[in-house]
Amino acid sequence: MIPGSFAYHRPTSVKEAVGLLAQWGDDGRVLAGGHSLIPMMKLRRAMPAHLVDLAGSTELKGIRVEGNDVAIGAMVTQHELVGSELLSGKVPLLRETSLQVADPQVRYVGTIGGNVANGDPGNDMPAVMMCLGATYHVIGQGGERRIAARDFYQGAYFTALETGNVLTAVRIPMPPAGHGYAYEKLKRKIGDYATAAAAVVLTLSGGKVATCSIGLTNVAETPLWAEEAAKILVGSSLDAATVKKAVAAAEAITAPASDARGPAQYRTKMAGVMLARALERAKARASG
Ligand SMILES: Cc1cc2nc3c(=O)[nH]c(=O)nc-3n(C[C@H](O)[C@H](O)[C@H](O)COP(=O)(O)OP(=O)(O)OC[C@H]3O[C@@H](n4cnc5c(N)ncnc54)[C@H](O)[C@@H]3O)c2cc1C
Repeated sequence: MIPGSFAYHRPTSVKEAVGLLAQWGDDGRVLAGGHSLIPMMKLRRAMPAHLVDLAGSTELKGIRVEGNDVAIGAMVTQHELVGSELLSGKVPLLRETSLQVADPQVRYVGTIGGNVANGDPGNDMPAVMMCLGATYHVIGQGGERRIAARDFYQGAYFTALETGNVLTAVRIPMPPAGHGYAYEKLKRKIGDYATAAAAVVLTLSGGKVATCSIGLTNVAETPLWAEEAAKILVGSSLDAATVKKAVAAAEAITAPASDARGPAQYRTKMAGVMLARALERAKARASG
């Protein structure tokens, strides 16, 4: 329950952080809110010799509109996501999801960057970012890369981040005005990770689905983008028969672990139930 010894560094810029990380290779690790990393260090599942705290890099803060996108600095906390009027207006799915992450104490320090970079399939933001078509900005000694959230997750705790990389921002294309959205999460108690969860963003035109995107949380080694399920729904009025087909398509791509949250088969079914509920709420919220 006590972490191994490590050196603590607090650079004041991203450039300095990248320079420090480059010195230590796999012995260095980025520290953001610490609410995933420190518990792992206490369990000795992570034993970095050097922690590079990003809290001194003010350039990683801020939420702003850039063209048709919203850009969120990696060190913006989940609490700040909840309180952002800009996000409530432009990407309300983020507020709805943030309110279901952990509890207020965790949200005060846990960051958007840490949540998406962590690679834990239980984190809520990654599937939401896939659903929204977000892009991650990543910087390292080799320069800057932009990686689509849909290409970022490769396995449990295994992402497209390379040694010494810092994720600097998340960029989200703003969904059109009048879109419908919902994040439905089944959890055992307040503050728990999802047994299964589903994110939906859709638009309607003349009562039919014009566009639809679906993300699923904690029902595979990575977050899932349920592309086929969404395609089934496009052109439909979200009638019961079509929703049933889409739910079956979404369930078919899941491969959850059997664990304390329930057997795999149950968690797959719950992903389907969360999706059906999210579709219903998204439809009710959409105009057009
Ligand atoms: C009791 C409890 C309940 C929780 N429940 C939930 C929940 O329901 N849903 C949920 O989604 N999360 C949950 N969490 C996790 C919480 O949201 C974490 O804060 C979050 O997963 C990680 O964010 P962080 O800022 O704390 O990152 P840290 O813990 O500091 O870092 C996590 C990992 O990401 C890396 N990292 C962090 N920032 C960057 C960056 N900018 N660039 C590159 N790498 C980076 C770190 O090196 C580390 O490997 C819970 C945590 C606790 C303690």
